[in-house]
Amino acid sequence: MALGEVNSNGDARPSKRRREGLPEKMKALQYSGPEKFAVVEIDVPTIGDDDVLVKISACGVCGTDLHYHKGEFLAKWPLIPGHEAAGTIAAIGKSVSNVSIGDRVTADPLQPCLSCFHCTRRKPLLCESITAFGGNVPGGFAEYCRYPARQVHPIGVLPDLEAVLIEPAACATHGIERMQLEVGSRVLLFGCGPTGILLAQLIRLNGAAHLTIASKAGPKLDLAKRLDIADDYITISDSHPDTDLSALHTANLYGFDIVVEATGAPTVLENAINFVRKGGKLVVYGVYDDKVKIAWSPFKIWENEITVIASFCSVQHMPHVLEYIKAKKLRLDGIVDRTFKIEEWKECMDVVRRQECVKAAIVFG
Ligand SMILES: [Zn+2]
Ligand SMILES: [Zn+2]
Repeated sequence: MALGEVNSNGDARPSKRRREGLPEKMKALQYSGPEKFAVVEIDVPTIGDDDVLVKISACGVCGTDLHYHKGEFLAKWPLIPGHEAAGTIAAIGKSVSNVSIGDRVTADPLQPCLSCFHCTRRKPLLCESITAFGGNVPGGFAEYCRYPARQVHPIGVLPDLEAVLIEPAACATHGIERMQLEVGSRVLLFGCGPTGILLAQLIRLNGAAHLTIASKAGPKLDLAKRLDIADDYITISDSHPDTDLSALHTANLYGFDIVVEATGAPTVLENAINFVRKGGKLVVYGVYDDKVKIAWSPFKIWENEITVIASFCSVQHMPHVLEYIKAKKLRLDGIVDRTFKIEEWKECMDVVRRQECVKAAIVFG
């Protein structure tokens, strides 16, 4: 569906359907512009023949939402953010056959157009006119959200606060595909936020013989240790990071086959290349301010044949993530450790910015 066919409530057109047992109105966290948000009461979205209406139970809060807050990325007003949603199918369009009313689902928030330059060259993630639920069309910080049926995936009995991690895990799965780990790889991961915790597990499941996590101290590193997701944990202190990093270097003289930067801190990325083994890969995974620049020696990259890879986000990786979950190979418990109502959005953003939790989620009901 093209963006022009969706109005600000997320309605699809044509949209005439009988609506039984559904309320007329819903609460939503809506932005009217950068930093201008309010909890509003608006019409529950109507759905087209190929759509579903999901009653949202929980929706993860992501760093990207803080960028949207400032009007960055794809933000289009009015905006209902939220792209890590879990909920229950409340209504289905008449052509929908993959899910039924009452199914618990998560939704892939990115819908490529399939007809632009990049889509037609099998690069849907790089789509020039991508529909982003919670970015340029309404997302999951509302009691109900409309999605095309093909964007939703049943989650069975997976708890809501674990299901909201399927989207970030899908991004991590794309990262794994980009990395193409070789058998027996030694991997260094900078950062163990919620994404890092998911990425670490998938790195180990996909060929790493040994994984080191380097992170500053705090609840995220504590959780990583508790979940036992790496072979080695290096604490980088705020007071003397250089000492900690040179100790890491000394202990790994030949560096790492793959170094992943997942903190989003430019200085960490700049330094990360010094840990890449000759012939190794550096993975740019964090989200950086778009004005940031860093300095690398091209000679070093050339002489050591270093490959620099980026991993942006994900389309169509949710079924793969669900396979890991069904096989009980991905630990999702305990990652979401704070929940908020949409009325508490300001407090939620403050807690996330101050890094007082591992991962926050908005909950309903
Ligand atoms: Zn996100
Ligand atoms: Zn496209």
